[in-house]
Amino acid sequence: MFNKILIANRGEIALRVIRTCREMGIKTVAVYSTADRDSLHVKFADEAVCIGKPQSYDSYLNVAHLMAAAEITNADAIHPGYGFLAENAKFAQICGDNGLKFIGPTPEMISGMGDKITAKETMIKAGVPVVPGGEGLLQSLDEAIGIAKGMGYPIILKATAGGGGKGMRIVWDESEMERAYTTAKAEAGAAFSNDGIYMEKYVEEPRHIEIQIAGDQYGNVCHLSERDCSIQRRHQKLVEESPSCFMTSELRYKMGEAAKKAAAAINYESVGTVEFLVDKNRNFYFMEMNTRIQVEHCVTEEVINFDLIKEQIKIAMGERISGRDYEPEMCAIECRINAEDPYNDFRPSPGRITTYHQPGGHGVRVDSHAYEGYVIPPYYDSMIGKLITMAQTREEAIATMYRALSEYVIEGIKTTIPFHLQLMKDERFRSGNFNTKFLESFVLR
Ligand code: ADP
Repeated sequence: MFNKILIANRGEIALRVIRTCREMGIKTVAVYSTADRDSLHVKFADEAVCIGKPQSYDSYLNVAHLMAAAEITNADAIHPGYGFLAENAKFAQICGDNGLKFIGPTPEMISGMGDKITAKETMIKAGVPVVPGGEGLLQSLDEAIGIAKGMGYPIILKATAGGGGKGMRIVWDESEMERAYTTAKAEAGAAFSNDGIYMEKYVEEPRHIEIQIAGDQYGNVCHLSERDCSIQRRHQKLVEESPSCFMTSELRYKMGEAAKKAAAAINYESVGTVEFLVDKNRNFYFMEMNTRIQVEHCVTEEVINFDLIKEQIKIAMGERISGRDYEPEMCAIECRINAEDPYNDFRPSPGRITTYHQPGGHGVRVDSHAYEGYVIPPYYDSMIGKLITMAQTREEAIATMYRALSEYVIEGIKTTIPFHLQLMKDERFRSGNFNTKFLESFVLR
């Protein structure tokens, strides 16, 4: 049993972990940068330690400061949340070396899945279908042109160290290759200090459907059903839901089995997500595995009535999972409420929240660290919170979402609320007939 967990993160996810720890009777340590002094996660934790200046590399990415904070507070485990050091194998290793249990998979599992080419090779060996192409890093522009010729356009260039949709370029024909190759490589190098890129067949008009999985230290794995994350802007998720309207019992079974196979191939322990692209004929292809808790985990929690953070902590404490698979019993939708101006190319809009009123009522969950007077710092991601609604049917969950969005008052900064309001009324969205390209033709009024 852990006595005290240090949360190496900030904002809503830090608060989310604190809440479950409270329920489990585990003490918490919050860490914060000087820009986050007034954040709710600092106020709600049992103890809080300032770990440095606002820039992430001075604070939330500063491993020495995090280790010192864990030592002076006598914490026995570290929850990394998502982002920052959550998928950093070296950090997981350092935690272990300092006698701290990293609440997540082992460093080997993280590095095995962190590099997308290695992950794909592992999946091919395990018999999990992967997106065609991408056998190895591209060595030159000529090689890229040659492979694309054999495979046929369109193709997509992706960063092997990728994340957050960065370092990705779609190429429709040979004339675009040189420019795409150069920019993808440069972007990957700048974002990940690793400019390795690889090629995949571009799956046209796919849906992004991911499977939540859990594995324990004894080799048991299960899946906890799917999330549809096809509503994306520039390869970044804005809305997630479960179940997927595209899902059938047969497809869920097949994708669930494939996801479990993926996890079992690396003896995965902890909760994780296996991401797939699904084409219009319901063929599915492994894209990547996220070895951490994800932003959109709440959608799954609501449809199967299950606390994923509690499960993650229990697995880290050496408990066994039940091993049974889960089917959605409800419909849930999540809208990401970001401090961004949807009328201005979703430009970040940090600053002080002058008025804040959060929605409530039946079927509504809000995971947010915001409050009236809170200042959204410009240094981190722009998420203010997540609004989740659930009901017996998708139609009702959408109606509840529209009602909840209409109640949500956030003044002083721009937010994505107007975008979500329009989306909830959009006929095509409501019909469920959409794919990852949907937002490209969506015009905000
Ligand atoms: P990241 O780790 O940067 O988020 P992913 O590999 O998860 O990158 O891909 C993000 C999104 O990019 C996917 O959800 C999908 O919309 C798009 N994408 C990635 N690979 C392909 C592909 N081969 N064909 C079509 N779309 C793709």
